[in-house]
Amino acid sequence: MTTGPVPGIGVLGLDRGGLERWLAGESEPRFRTGQLVRWLYQRGADSYEQMTDLPAGLRATLADRLPLLRPRLEAREVSALDDTRRYLWRLADGATVESVGLPADDRLTVCFSTQAGCAMGCSFCATGAGGLVRDLGAGEMAEQVRLVGADFGARVTNAVAMGQGEPFTNYDATLGGVRLMNDPDALGIGARHITISTCGLIGEIERLASEPEQFTLAISLHSAVQATRNRLMPSLRAQPLPRLQSALETYATATGRRPSLEYALVEGVNDSAEELAALIGFCTGLLCHVNLIPVNPVGGLGHARPGGGRVMAFLDGLAAAGIQATIRTERGTDIEAACGQLTQRHSGPG
Ligand code: SAH
Ligand code: SF4
Repeated sequence: MTTGPVPGIGVLGLDRGGLERWLAGESEPRFRTGQLVRWLYQRGADSYEQMTDLPAGLRATLADRLPLLRPRLEAREVSALDDTRRYLWRLADGATVESVGLPADDRLTVCFSTQAGCAMGCSFCATGAGGLVRDLGAGEMAEQVRLVGADFGARVTNAVAMGQGEPFTNYDATLGGVRLMNDPDALGIGARHITISTCGLIGEIERLASEPEQFTLAISLHSAVQATRNRLMPSLRAQPLPRLQSALETYATATGRRPSLEYALVEGVNDSAEELAALIGFCTGLLCHVNLIPVNPVGGLGHARPGGGRVMAFLDGLAAAGIQATIRTERGTDIEAACGQLTQRHSGPG
Protein backbone atom coordinates (compact mmCIF):
# COMPACT_ATOMS: atom_id res chain seq x y z
CA MET A 1 0.00 0.00 0.00
CA THR A 2 1.09 3.52 -0.69
CA THR A 3 -0.65 6.61 0.55
CA GLY A 4 -2.36 8.96 -1.90
CA PRO A 5 -2.61 12.77 -1.74
CA VAL A 6 -4.15 14.16 1.46
CA PRO A 7 -6.08 17.37 0.73
CA GLY A 8 -4.51 20.59 1.95
CA ILE A 9 -1.12 19.31 3.09
CA GLY A 10 0.70 19.07 -0.23
CA VAL A 11 3.68 16.84 -0.85
CA LEU A 12 4.09 15.86 2.82
CA GLY A 13 0.85 13.91 2.48
CA LEU A 14 2.61 11.31 0.32
CA ASP A 15 4.98 8.47 1.06
CA ARG A 16 7.67 7.31 -1.37
CA GLY A 17 5.28 4.99 -3.21
CA GLY A 18 2.75 7.82 -3.52
CA LEU A 19 5.42 10.13 -4.96
CA GLU A 20 6.48 7.45 -7.40
CA ARG A 21 2.90 6.96 -8.60
CA TRP A 22 2.35 10.69 -8.91
CA LEU A 23 5.53 11.14 -10.96
CA ALA A 24 4.63 8.15 -13.15
CA GLY A 25 1.30 9.88 -13.81
CA GLU A 26 3.32 12.81 -15.13
CA SER A 27 5.28 10.40 -17.35
CA GLU A 28 8.49 11.14 -15.47
CA PRO A 29 11.27 8.53 -15.40
CA ARG A 30 11.58 6.42 -12.25
CA PHE A 31 14.82 7.99 -11.05
CA ARG A 32 12.95 11.25 -10.39
CA THR A 33 11.47 9.74 -7.22
CA GLY A 34 14.90 9.36 -5.61
CA GLN A 35 15.86 12.87 -6.67
CA LEU A 36 12.71 14.36 -5.16
CA VAL A 37 12.97 12.32 -1.94
CA ARG A 38 16.58 13.44 -1.47
CA TRP A 39 15.68 17.10 -1.97
CA LEU A 40 12.77 16.86 0.43
CA TYR A 41 14.24 14.83 3.29
CA GLN A 42 18.03 14.75 2.92
CA ARG A 43 18.81 18.23 1.70
CA GLY A 44 15.75 19.88 3.22
CA ALA A 45 15.01 22.18 0.27
CA ASP A 46 12.62 25.00 1.12
CA SER A 47 11.08 25.24 -2.33
CA TYR A 48 10.93 23.38 -5.63
CA GLU A 49 12.92 26.23 -7.15
CA GLN A 50 16.01 24.93 -5.34
CA MET A 51 15.68 21.48 -6.94
CA THR A 52 17.80 22.47 -9.88
CA ASP A 53 18.25 18.98 -11.33
CA LEU A 54 14.49 18.65 -11.88
CA PRO A 55 13.12 20.07 -15.16
CA ALA A 56 11.61 23.55 -14.76
CA GLY A 57 8.23 22.37 -16.10
CA LEU A 58 8.04 19.61 -13.50
CA ARG A 59 9.02 22.02 -10.73
CA ALA A 60 6.18 24.33 -11.72
CA THR A 61 3.65 21.47 -11.84
CA LEU A 62 4.82 20.23 -8.45
CA ALA A 63 4.52 23.70 -6.93
CA ASP A 64 1.01 23.98 -8.33
CA ARG A 65 -0.37 20.51 -7.57
CA LEU A 66 1.75 19.20 -4.66
CA PRO A 67 2.91 22.31 -2.81
CA LEU A 68 5.87 22.00 -0.46
CA LEU A 69 4.48 23.22 2.85
CA ARG A 70 6.95 22.64 5.68
CA PRO A 71 5.64 22.70 9.27
CA ARG A 72 6.19 25.99 11.08
CA LEU A 73 7.88 26.03 14.45
CA GLU A 74 5.33 27.47 16.84
CA ALA A 75 7.16 26.85 20.13
CA ARG A 76 10.30 25.15 21.41
CA GLU A 77 11.24 24.37 24.98
CA VAL A 78 14.55 23.03 26.24
CA SER A 79 14.80 21.00 29.43
CA ALA A 80 17.20 22.48 31.94
CA LEU A 81 17.78 18.94 33.23
CA ASP A 82 19.07 17.10 30.18
CA ASP A 83 18.68 19.19 26.97
CA THR A 84 15.53 17.27 25.98
CA ARG A 85 13.72 19.53 23.53
CA ARG A 86 10.00 19.76 22.97
CA TYR A 87 8.64 21.22 19.74
CA LEU A 88 5.21 22.39 18.70
CA TRP A 89 4.70 22.47 14.94
CA ARG A 90 1.91 24.14 13.00
CA LEU A 91 1.07 22.09 9.91
CA ALA A 92 -0.10 23.39 6.54
CA ASP A 93 -3.81 23.18 7.40
CA GLY A 94 -3.35 24.78 10.84
CA ALA A 95 -3.37 21.53 12.87
CA THR A 96 -0.64 21.31 15.51
CA VAL A 97 1.52 18.40 16.65
CA GLU A 98 4.43 17.91 18.97
CA SER A 99 7.77 16.12 18.76
CA VAL A 100 10.51 15.58 21.31
CA GLY A 101 14.28 15.32 20.80
CA LEU A 102 16.19 13.24 23.34
CA PRO A 103 19.99 13.47 23.10
CA ALA A 104 22.18 10.92 24.91
CA ASP A 105 25.93 10.39 24.43
CA ASP A 106 26.30 9.37 20.80
CA ARG A 107 22.57 9.00 20.15
CA LEU A 108 19.75 11.32 19.21
CA THR A 109 16.25 9.89 19.54
CA VAL A 110 13.25 11.69 18.10
CA CYS A 111 9.79 10.97 19.43
CA PHE A 112 7.30 11.86 16.66
CA SER A 113 3.53 12.11 16.37
CA THR A 114 1.42 10.03 13.97
CA GLN A 115 -1.82 11.95 14.45
CA ALA A 116 -2.85 15.37 15.71
CA GLY A 117 -4.54 14.27 18.94
CA CYS A 118 -5.82 10.72 19.46
CA ALA A 119 -9.23 9.07 19.50
CA MET A 120 -8.42 6.27 21.94
CA GLY A 121 -9.10 8.17 25.17
CA CYS A 122 -6.77 6.27 27.54
CA SER A 123 -7.52 7.53 31.03
CA PHE A 124 -3.94 8.45 31.99
CA CYS A 125 -2.91 10.20 28.77
CA ALA A 126 -3.02 13.93 28.04
CA THR A 127 -3.21 13.35 24.28
CA GLY A 128 -6.24 11.09 24.63
CA ALA A 129 -8.05 13.67 26.72
CA GLY A 130 -8.16 16.09 23.78
CA GLY A 131 -9.64 13.74 21.13
CA LEU A 132 -8.55 13.29 17.52
CA VAL A 133 -7.98 16.24 15.20
CA ARG A 134 -6.70 14.37 12.14
CA ASP A 135 -4.35 11.71 10.80
CA LEU A 136 -0.90 12.85 9.71
CA GLY A 137 0.54 12.12 6.29
CA ALA A 138 3.68 9.99 5.87
CA GLY A 139 5.85 12.99 5.01
CA GLU A 140 4.57 14.96 7.99
CA MET A 141 5.96 12.20 10.24
CA ALA A 142 9.38 11.98 8.54
CA GLU A 143 9.53 15.76 8.48
CA GLN A 144 9.23 16.04 12.27
CA VAL A 145 12.24 13.74 12.60
CA ARG A 146 14.25 15.69 10.02
CA LEU A 147 13.47 19.05 11.61
CA VAL A 148 14.47 17.92 15.09
CA GLY A 149 17.75 16.52 13.73
CA ALA A 150 18.39 19.85 12.00
CA ASP A 151 17.72 21.75 15.22
CA PHE A 152 20.28 19.63 17.08
CA GLY A 153 22.66 19.80 14.11
CA ALA A 154 23.10 16.04 14.48
CA ARG A 155 22.19 12.81 12.75
CA VAL A 156 19.06 11.21 14.18
CA THR A 157 19.95 7.67 15.26
CA ASN A 158 16.59 6.51 16.63
CA ALA A 159 12.95 7.38 16.06
CA VAL A 160 9.95 6.37 18.16
CA ALA A 161 6.25 6.79 17.35
CA MET A 162 5.43 7.75 20.92
CA GLY A 163 4.23 11.29 20.40
CA GLN A 164 0.59 12.11 19.82
CA GLY A 165 -1.67 9.58 18.18
CA GLU A 166 -2.26 5.89 17.73
CA PRO A 167 -0.10 4.80 14.78
CA PHE A 168 -2.19 1.73 13.99
CA THR A 169 -5.37 3.71 13.38
CA ASN A 170 -3.31 5.48 10.69
CA TYR A 171 -1.46 2.35 9.55
CA ASP A 172 -0.63 3.05 5.89
CA ALA A 173 0.64 6.57 6.48
CA THR A 174 2.65 5.42 9.51
CA LEU A 175 4.32 2.66 7.51
CA GLY A 176 5.01 5.17 4.74
CA GLY A 177 6.45 7.55 7.35
CA VAL A 178 8.77 5.02 8.98
CA ARG A 179 9.87 3.82 5.55
CA LEU A 180 10.90 7.38 4.69
CA MET A 181 12.85 7.51 7.97
CA ASN A 182 14.54 4.24 7.00
CA ASP A 183 15.05 5.16 3.31
CA PRO A 184 18.72 5.84 2.45
CA ASP A 185 17.49 8.60 0.09
CA ALA A 186 15.68 10.24 3.02
CA LEU A 187 16.75 9.89 6.68
CA GLY A 188 18.63 6.57 6.58
CA ILE A 189 17.78 5.42 10.12
CA GLY A 190 18.12 1.65 10.64
CA ALA A 191 14.73 -0.13 10.78
CA ARG A 192 15.60 -1.74 14.12
CA HIS A 193 16.17 1.74 15.49
CA ILE A 194 12.66 2.83 14.56
CA THR A 195 9.98 1.89 17.09
CA ILE A 196 6.24 1.88 16.53
CA SER A 197 4.30 2.07 19.78
CA THR A 198 0.68 0.94 19.74
CA CYS A 199 -2.02 0.71 22.37
CA GLY A 200 -2.41 -2.86 21.11
CA LEU A 201 -4.56 -3.11 17.98
CA ILE A 202 -4.39 -6.82 17.21
CA GLY A 203 -5.07 -6.91 13.46
CA GLU A 204 -2.37 -4.31 12.81
CA ILE A 205 0.18 -6.07 15.04
CA GLU A 206 -0.32 -9.14 12.85
CA ARG A 207 -0.01 -6.97 9.78
CA LEU A 208 3.27 -5.48 10.99
CA ALA A 209 4.57 -9.01 11.56
CA SER A 210 4.26 -9.62 7.82
CA GLU A 211 6.05 -6.44 6.68
CA PRO A 212 9.51 -6.98 5.21
CA GLU A 213 11.37 -4.49 7.43
CA GLN A 214 12.46 -5.13 11.01
CA PHE A 215 10.80 -2.18 12.69
CA THR A 216 10.68 -2.48 16.47
CA LEU A 217 7.29 -2.89 18.13
CA ALA A 218 6.24 -1.54 21.52
CA ILE A 219 2.86 -2.34 23.08
CA SER A 220 1.16 -0.21 25.71
CA LEU A 221 -0.06 -2.98 28.00
CA HIS A 222 -0.48 -1.20 31.36
CA SER A 223 -2.40 -4.12 32.88
CA ALA A 224 -2.72 -7.84 32.22
CA VAL A 225 -6.03 -7.92 34.14
CA GLN A 226 -8.81 -7.42 31.62
CA ALA A 227 -11.08 -5.38 33.91
CA THR A 228 -8.26 -3.00 34.88
CA ARG A 229 -7.14 -2.60 31.28
CA ASN A 230 -10.73 -1.88 30.23
CA ARG A 231 -10.84 0.93 32.74
CA LEU A 232 -7.46 2.39 31.77
CA MET A 233 -7.92 1.91 28.02
CA PRO A 234 -11.66 1.85 27.33
CA SER A 235 -11.30 1.76 23.52
CA LEU A 236 -9.57 -1.61 23.74
CA ARG A 237 -12.41 -3.55 25.35
CA ALA A 238 -12.98 -5.42 22.11
CA GLN A 239 -9.29 -6.44 21.91
CA PRO A 240 -9.05 -9.16 24.59
CA LEU A 241 -5.73 -9.90 26.29
CA PRO A 242 -5.43 -13.56 25.19
CA ARG A 243 -5.75 -12.47 21.56
CA LEU A 244 -3.23 -9.68 22.10
CA GLN A 245 -0.85 -12.22 23.58
CA SER A 246 -1.19 -14.57 20.60
CA ALA A 247 -0.71 -11.67 18.15
CA LEU A 248 2.53 -10.84 19.97
CA GLU A 249 3.59 -14.47 19.70
CA THR A 250 2.90 -14.30 15.96
CA TYR A 251 4.99 -11.13 15.72
CA ALA A 252 7.89 -12.60 17.73
CA THR A 253 7.87 -15.84 15.75
CA ALA A 254 7.61 -14.15 12.35
CA THR A 255 10.30 -11.55 13.03
CA GLY A 256 12.53 -13.08 15.72
CA ARG A 257 12.21 -9.70 17.43
CA ARG A 258 11.37 -9.03 21.05
CA PRO A 259 8.44 -6.59 21.42
CA SER A 260 8.55 -4.32 24.45
CA LEU A 261 5.59 -4.04 26.75
CA GLU A 262 5.05 -0.59 28.23
CA TYR A 263 3.63 -0.67 31.75
CA ALA A 264 2.87 2.71 33.37
CA LEU A 265 2.53 2.02 37.08
CA VAL A 266 -0.42 3.86 38.62
CA GLU A 267 -0.82 3.80 42.38
CA GLY A 268 -3.76 1.73 43.57
CA VAL A 269 -4.77 0.80 40.00
CA ASN A 270 -2.26 -1.63 38.46
CA ASP A 271 0.49 -1.92 41.08
CA SER A 272 -0.89 -4.72 43.29
CA ALA A 273 0.52 -8.22 43.84
CA GLU A 274 -2.41 -9.60 41.82
CA GLU A 275 -1.56 -7.29 38.91
CA LEU A 276 2.07 -8.38 39.09
CA ALA A 277 1.05 -12.04 38.99
CA ALA A 278 -1.17 -11.37 35.95
CA LEU A 279 1.68 -9.53 34.21
CA ILE A 280 4.05 -12.44 34.85
CA GLY A 281 1.39 -14.81 33.49
CA PHE A 282 1.01 -12.69 30.34
CA CYS A 283 4.76 -12.63 29.71
CA THR A 284 5.58 -16.22 30.52
CA GLY A 285 6.55 -18.04 27.34
CA LEU A 286 6.43 -14.80 25.34
CA LEU A 287 9.56 -13.24 23.87
CA CYS A 288 9.27 -9.72 25.32
CA HIS A 289 10.85 -6.97 27.37
CA VAL A 290 8.88 -5.04 30.00
CA ASN A 291 9.41 -1.30 30.46
CA LEU A 292 8.12 -0.17 33.84
CA ILE A 293 7.28 3.54 33.85
CA PRO A 294 6.08 5.26 37.00
CA VAL A 295 3.10 7.11 35.47
CA ASN A 296 3.81 10.67 34.43
CA PRO A 297 1.53 13.13 36.15
CA VAL A 298 -1.04 14.72 33.86
CA GLY A 299 -2.99 17.59 35.37
CA GLY A 300 -6.60 16.76 36.13
CA LEU A 301 -6.40 13.06 35.26
CA GLY A 302 -5.83 12.05 38.87
CA HIS A 303 -3.24 9.28 38.49
CA ALA A 304 -0.39 9.05 40.99
CA ARG A 305 2.96 7.28 40.92
CA PRO A 306 3.36 4.38 43.33
CA GLY A 307 6.16 4.53 45.88
CA GLY A 308 9.60 3.25 44.88
CA GLY A 309 8.96 0.04 46.83
CA ARG A 310 6.12 -1.02 44.52
CA VAL A 311 8.17 -0.24 41.42
CA MET A 312 11.05 -2.37 42.76
CA ALA A 313 8.62 -5.16 43.68
CA PHE A 314 7.54 -5.31 40.03
CA LEU A 315 11.11 -5.26 38.78
CA ASP A 316 12.22 -7.97 41.19
CA GLY A 317 9.10 -10.08 40.64
CA LEU A 318 9.59 -10.05 36.87
CA ALA A 319 13.31 -10.80 37.20
CA ALA A 320 12.59 -13.74 39.53
CA ALA A 321 10.21 -15.14 36.90
CA GLY A 322 12.95 -14.84 34.26
CA ILE A 323 11.30 -11.93 32.41
CA GLN A 324 13.47 -9.09 31.07
CA ALA A 325 12.44 -5.78 32.57
CA THR A 326 13.77 -2.28 33.11
CA ILE A 327 12.54 0.84 34.83
CA ARG A 328 12.34 3.60 32.29
CA THR A 329 13.56 6.88 33.62
CA GLU A 330 11.57 9.64 32.07
CA ARG A 331 13.21 12.67 30.58
CA GLY A 332 12.10 16.20 30.06
CA THR A 333 9.42 16.08 32.76
CA ASP A 334 10.17 19.72 33.65
CA ILE A 335 8.85 20.75 30.23
CA GLU A 336 6.08 18.10 30.16
CA ALA A 337 7.81 16.33 27.28
CA ALA A 338 7.54 12.85 28.78
CA CYS A 339 5.24 10.07 27.53
CA GLY A 340 1.58 10.91 27.70
CA GLN A 341 2.16 14.58 28.46
CA LEU A 342 1.82 15.85 24.89
CA THR A 343 -1.30 17.80 24.08
CA GLN A 344 -2.68 20.17 21.49
CA ARG A 345 -2.09 23.05 23.85
CA HIS A 346 1.23 24.59 24.65
CA SER A 347 2.46 27.26 26.94
CA GLY A 348 5.42 29.55 26.76
CA PRO A 349 7.22 31.15 23.84
CA GLY A 350 9.56 29.31 21.49
N1 SAH B 1 -0.73 5.62 20.99
C1 SAH B 1 0.48 4.91 21.11
C2 SAH B 1 1.72 5.77 21.04
C3 SAH B 1 1.66 7.10 21.71
S1 SAH B 1 1.55 7.08 23.47
C4 SAH B 1 0.47 4.07 22.37
O1 SAH B 1 -0.44 4.23 23.17
O2 SAH B 1 1.35 3.23 22.51
C5 SAH B 1 3.25 6.73 23.87
C6 SAH B 1 3.42 6.00 25.20
O3 SAH B 1 3.12 6.85 26.30
C7 SAH B 1 2.52 4.79 25.36
O4 SAH B 1 3.24 3.69 25.87
C8 SAH B 1 1.52 5.29 26.36
O5 SAH B 1 0.85 4.25 27.00
C9 SAH B 1 2.39 6.12 27.25
N2 SAH B 1 1.71 7.04 28.14
C10 SAH B 1 0.60 7.75 27.90
N3 SAH B 1 0.29 8.51 28.98
C11 SAH B 1 1.25 8.26 29.91
C12 SAH B 1 1.50 8.76 31.22
N4 SAH B 1 0.70 9.67 31.78
N5 SAH B 1 2.58 8.27 31.88
C13 SAH B 1 3.40 7.37 31.30
N6 SAH B 1 3.23 6.89 30.06
C14 SAH B 1 2.15 7.32 29.38
FE1 SF4 C 1 -3.80 7.55 22.31
FE2 SF4 C 1 -1.59 6.24 23.07
FE3 SF4 C 1 -2.55 8.29 24.54
FE4 SF4 C 1 -3.89 5.98 24.47
S1 SF4 C 1 -1.82 6.30 25.29
S2 SF4 C 1 -4.79 8.04 24.27
S3 SF4 C 1 -3.54 5.34 22.38
S4 SF4 C 1 -1.74 8.42 22.46
